[in-house]
Amino acid sequence: MVRYIVLVVIDCLRADHASHNGYHLPTTPTIDSLGESGIIWEQAHSASSWTKPSVTSMLTGLYPNQHGVFHGVKRSKKRDTATTDRLADSIPTLASVFSSAGWRCGAFINNAQLGEFSGLGRGFETYVPNAGKADRLIGMFSDWMHADQNQPGFAYLHFLESHWPYKPRRRHVAMFGGNRDQNCFRDHSARDFGKLRRSISRGDAELSANELTQLCQLYDGSVRRLDGKIKIIQKMLDDLGVREETAILVTADHGEEFMEHDRIGHGHSLYDELTHVPLVAQIPSLEGGDRRRDPVSLTDLPCTLLDIAGLPQSLPGRSLVAQCATDTPVFSELWIRHRYIQTVRVAQWKLHRERKAEQRSGNAMESIPIQEWLTSTPVLETETLFDIEADPHETKNCINEAKRQGDSLRDVLNRWWEKCGTLNASQTDSQTEIDNEVVLRLRSLGYLD
Ligand SMILES: [Zn+2]
Repeated sequence: MVRYIVLVVIDCLRADHASHNGYHLPTTPTIDSLGESGIIWEQAHSASSWTKPSVTSMLTGLYPNQHGVFHGVKRSKKRDTATTDRLADSIPTLASVFSSAGWRCGAFINNAQLGEFSGLGRGFETYVPNAGKADRLIGMFSDWMHADQNQPGFAYLHFLESHWPYKPRRRHVAMFGGNRDQNCFRDHSARDFGKLRRSISRGDAELSANELTQLCQLYDGSVRRLDGKIKIIQKMLDDLGVREETAILVTADHGEEFMEHDRIGHGHSLYDELTHVPLVAQIPSLEGGDRRRDPVSLTDLPCTLLDIAGLPQSLPGRSLVAQCATDTPVFSELWIRHRYIQTVRVAQWKLHRERKAEQRSGNAMESIPIQEWLTSTPVLETETLFDIEADPHETKNCINEAKRQGDSLRDVLNRWWEKCGTLNASQTDSQTEIDNEVVLRLRSLGYLD
């Protein structure tokens, strides 16, 4: 019987840098062993390519156009205010469902994008959005676990150390052939990385092959360092005597780009380096060695966790524990300023559809639902199609050669879009003001100029 569920989210961890997904370096031995003794989903995809929309999908079961949380901070220098969109109070969350069923819910998070202002704290009786680095975060989680063992519990732990600025231990970089002390990015702050990303995006800077190798060594070392922290969680659960009653799931909110499509960082496209993430689960009484190869969406996490808990699956989506239909489409979305991108993946095929405003005018877009923006703004539409099996890095657009597959995915995307539009358009307009402290924290992550 499962009495505890621990959802571990590792920020920016792309699937193809996890050993159990075929990476050539041993970056994730602990996560691998969790998956090997439970279930590994080899083709899990996040609903977006940056934290806030993606995590909101993981905690509601809704895609971004349905929950309406798309944007970062919008600052008005004139009025000296900063606003962002937040989850509407009318939308049920995973924690609110667990809480109604008598489960304690605790969230211990290190990411300024997920502050109280996000609306994601609803249902968590303990919600700590600034839990800090891994050891402090795990300490808080441990205190929370020790405080009450009468009730079942759901905990969401969100680690940030695999997000820039990468600060692995010396030995974690050496493990992958690097030298931390001589690494050219060793002293980069998050703001330095943010600046570098903007320069690369504008075409004002580029990375040499050697610099890229050094960047990946820092990233891989940071992933390996975090992987070791999961062992500490396992030991704490062992010491508490609840390991046999605890399901542990590990995933990521999105991936990270290392120049595969001429950029670094995340949140600017929906290629697989940004949406394909690890997903593993160790579940009591479930046998190991179960590898699933069909594409699945992290929007299905809420129903999956409710299923593991033995509770009714009352949120959108489906449980991924049960053997599912193999051709269920998986979608991702991203809306940044004047561009809205959707992707749909079925089997090995992935269609990207991008709509770009014909004119960069107006600033109201960030406070209206995407459905409204698309009907009120003239856009230029482009589509690209990739065969992920033959071309995993999405370099060869085969929209003309594979016309039948393109038509089929376009139909799937259109049908889904019509369904989404009628479901939740009325729920997608919720903005909130945020205070200066949060703006400063976001700036320290390299998100704001
Ligand atoms: Zn993130």
